[in-house]
Amino acid sequence: MPGHYGGQPAYIMNPRTEHKQGRDALSVNIAAAKAVANIVRTTLGPKGMDKMMVNSIGDIVLTNDGAMILKGMDIEHPTAKMIVEVARTQEEIAGDGTTSAVVTAGTLLDKASDLIEEGVHARVLVRGFENASEKALEILNEFAIDVSEGNRETLEKIASTSMSGKASETNKEILASLCVDAILQISKKGSVNVDNDIILRQEPGKSVDETEILDGIMLNKYRVHPGMPKTVKDAKIAIIDTPLETQKTSNTSKLQISNADEMQNFLAREEDDFKQMADHVIKSGANVVICSKNIGDKVAHYLQKSGVMGIRRVSDDDIRNLSYATGAKIVKKVFDLSEEDLGHAGEVGEEGESTVAKIFIKKCENTKVITILLRGSTEHVTDNLERAFDDALHVINSVFEDGKIVAGGGAAEVEIAQRLRHYASSIGGREQLAITAFADAVESIPMDIAENGGMDATSVILKLRNAHVENPNIGLDIYSGDYLDMVEKGIVDPLRVKTQTIRSASEVATMILRIDDMMRAQKKDMMDVNPEHNIHNYNRPF
Ligand code: ADP
Ligand code: MG
Repeated sequence: MPGHYGGQPAYIMNPRTEHKQGRDALSVNIAAAKAVANIVRTTLGPKGMDKMMVNSIGDIVLTNDGAMILKGMDIEHPTAKMIVEVARTQEEIAGDGTTSAVVTAGTLLDKASDLIEEGVHARVLVRGFENASEKALEILNEFAIDVSEGNRETLEKIASTSMSGKASETNKEILASLCVDAILQISKKGSVNVDNDIILRQEPGKSVDETEILDGIMLNKYRVHPGMPKTVKDAKIAIIDTPLETQKTSNTSKLQISNADEMQNFLAREEDDFKQMADHVIKSGANVVICSKNIGDKVAHYLQKSGVMGIRRVSDDDIRNLSYATGAKIVKKVFDLSEEDLGHAGEVGEEGESTVAKIFIKKCENTKVITILLRGSTEHVTDNLERAFDDALHVINSVFEDGKIVAGGGAAEVEIAQRLRHYASSIGGREQLAITAFADAVESIPMDIAENGGMDATSVILKLRNAHVENPNIGLDIYSGDYLDMVEKGIVDPLRVKTQTIRSASEVATMILRIDDMMRAQKKDMMDVNPEHNIHNYNRPF
């Protein structure tokens, strides 16, 4: 008998290492993937529930954003991690649709496990799912509608749909319009990089409808010295990432001062250091100095005398934004600063009174950069607003870039499912079962949206299927419970979001179905050391 020598079993692995094979491995993996999907399932759609997340120091976040929930959870199981990875990829490529992607993947695997029980081989399922996924993408492309750049009304409707259930419902229209403004404004100047070009700043304390767009950057700061100019036109900006004050003497060298003369000397030398520091900055041509650390009184005094504006203790995020917006290089050593390191802005000015004043950096060299002041009564409100707004900005931007949308509220999914079932019947055999299962999984999206809104999922699906005979854009508006043309109603999704949902759900499901052996690697170096990228599939790119 192979593997046995002299009656002794020859283990190829330490029998105590975790090792699962075949069906066992598969069913464990499917269960793990389903468990993750079920966590976010109840958050799907505008009437989805929120999750309350509490971190180790007791901070509370309320959210129904799938990617955010999964990111915040400490997930251990390797297959479950693969599902979390789906959310990350979805977010990165499409900017939205994370919950849908995870839920679809979970449902696909659920249907797969039923078919495996019935004796269908995993390999047949993989083939069927791949086939179905390709067909589904074809259907989506046919189903999609072009939106022209000038179609503002549709764009606002899309932004508003994407914020549904996340931002304050009453102010959705205003926010949607601001979101479109922001993207239109930037896209006139070139390609839009939402994460860099748009700075979202929370300003709790006012009402949501006072949210506004500013040109350039705003800092919650004021000049370090009242003698400094309040406004600097044609600003040449130095960004310095080290304190502009006493260079701390290193702790090995002790300063010995034994008499008044020596003290005098020391002070004079220090005074000299400060002056040299200020002089060097002034000589570079800078008329605005932005420092991540302190600007000491003495240095401030010299800067002020030369009419240079100084701003101190600016946060790392702001420093990064300022560098991107003005083109200034972040300088780590004061005496390294030279003219080439300076950034530019048309105007830097302080507005408001003393300690509540703010600094505005306008007409930046990189003119695309804008700041959106998100207002709301409390930080919880502005926190959620920021996430919703960020989603909406990405969505509008991708719609802009692709110029294609599909009807939302389950319309796209029902249409895909219908046409897939039709296609499946032309294939026949066991693969037909897999394609039909794929159709059912896609259709689980409107079912979950309905269920989360307190409606009966089965009857919703039946109604939608019937309605699609007449008009494929009919979907469910979960707010009114009506079956409407979703494009007319403005409940639409970017094509890219739906395409990516199908793609990532089917990729991860087939990847999991292909695993028939699971063991814990003993050697660490089998895995990438970066925990974010420790999922490897050497057979095909994922
Ligand atoms: P995801 O993380 O997948 O984007 P969401 O909770 O944002 O999850 O839900 C998105 C789904 O909700 C999309 O399929 C979208 O078409 C649908 N949807 C948006 N607004 C409505 C509505 N008023 N009625 C029903 N479905 C809606
Ligand atoms: Mg969404």
